[in-house]
Amino acid sequence: MSRHFCTREDELLDALERGYVAPELNAHIETCTPCGELYRVAGALLNDRAHAMAEVVLPSAGTMWWRMQLRRHREAQAAARRSLLIGQAATLLVAIILITSFFGTRITAGVRELAGSVPTDTLMLPALALLAMAIFVAPIAGYVVTRQK
Ligand SMILES: [Zn+2]
Repeated sequence: MSRHFCTREDELLDALERGYVAPELNAHIETCTPCGELYRVAGALLNDRAHAMAEVVLPSAGTMWWRMQLRRHREAQAAARRSLLIGQAATLLVAIILITSFFGTRITAGVRELAGSVPTDTLMLPALALLAMAIFVAPIAGYVVTRQK
């Protein structure tokens, strides 16, 4: 299917957007098939847009101001939370580095001694694995719960 073009289609679109089609252009629409189709399709779409714009109910200025204040307040809260999270992460990192540098060898020796003293019978292994998982998961769960507020 081939489509024929007319050089006056842009002019017709401009006229339809303005809402006024000059009589001379109107006469051209009657004789030109592409412009006639464009007039029907674009005219219907533009009419639909005009009706939709007319039916929009804008909220009052006070309501819009209140919504903007609320949005600005929420954005400020989110920015503060991000900054706080970065500060907490940096503090935690520094604390881990300091603890590791000061007590690293003692902690390692203590963990080895503790691990050596644990009875390794098959009944205790699942309980130890569960305890280790709880120790690992508890801080993450706490973080997730406090972050959702
Ligand atoms: Zn035409």
